Amino acid sequence: MGSQAGLHKLLSRADIDSAVKRLASEITRDYHDKNPLLIGILKGSFMFLADLVRLLDFPLELEFVRLSSYGSGRQTSGKVKVVQGLRSVVRGRHVLVVEDIVDTGITVAFLLDYLKKKKTASQRLCALTDKPSRRRVPADIDYLGFTVPDKFLVGYGLDCDEKYRNLPDICYLEE
Ligand code: 5GP
Ligand code: MG
Repeated sequence: MGSQAGLHKLLSRADIDSAVKRLASEITRDYHDKNPLLIGILKGSFMFLADLVRLLDFPLELEFVRLSSYGSGRQTSGKVKVVQGLRSVVRGRHVLVVEDIVDTGITVAFLLDYLKKKKTASQRLCALTDKPSRRRVPADIDYLGFTVPDKFLVGYGLDCDEKYRNLPDICYLEE
């Protein structure tokens, strides 16, 4: 897999594992008695969320939303489209949004703003990666795995035109 042409490893499976362990212990410390609702943003966060929740040994609930700010390819459209919305009641809940990568910040700002309007007890953000060089709107990341350079990343859930989501490592594509 790692030998596919044009792919360069940025974060190995072992790097990711230790970051997920650290994040799980931070989240356990803060949420073990709060029965939180974790909301994964599909599709990119599916692998991260699956690894993370396996390490959370306390009561919690899971929900998914599918938001899309990308058309096809690598360019963000700047507008968030709700492809699949929330089915759970969020009012009064402690909500933790789980995202694969915060890039312009537009996607997470949109969701966190929506949650606030729905009167959650709290809303925080856990992101595996952060690309701060591309930020267009402010985003506070409460639990962060890695700060990454301005490269287009694939693998561990992240795609390029729906390909590469199954790679176990996080790689970047040659420009
Ligand atoms: P935003 O620009 O709104 O912060 O990020 C929107 C979405 O774009 C993220 O949830 C993520 O799925 C996707 N995205 C941002 N940067 C990358 C990247 O380098 N690779 C891939 N595959 N997706 C990205
Ligand atoms: Mg995403």
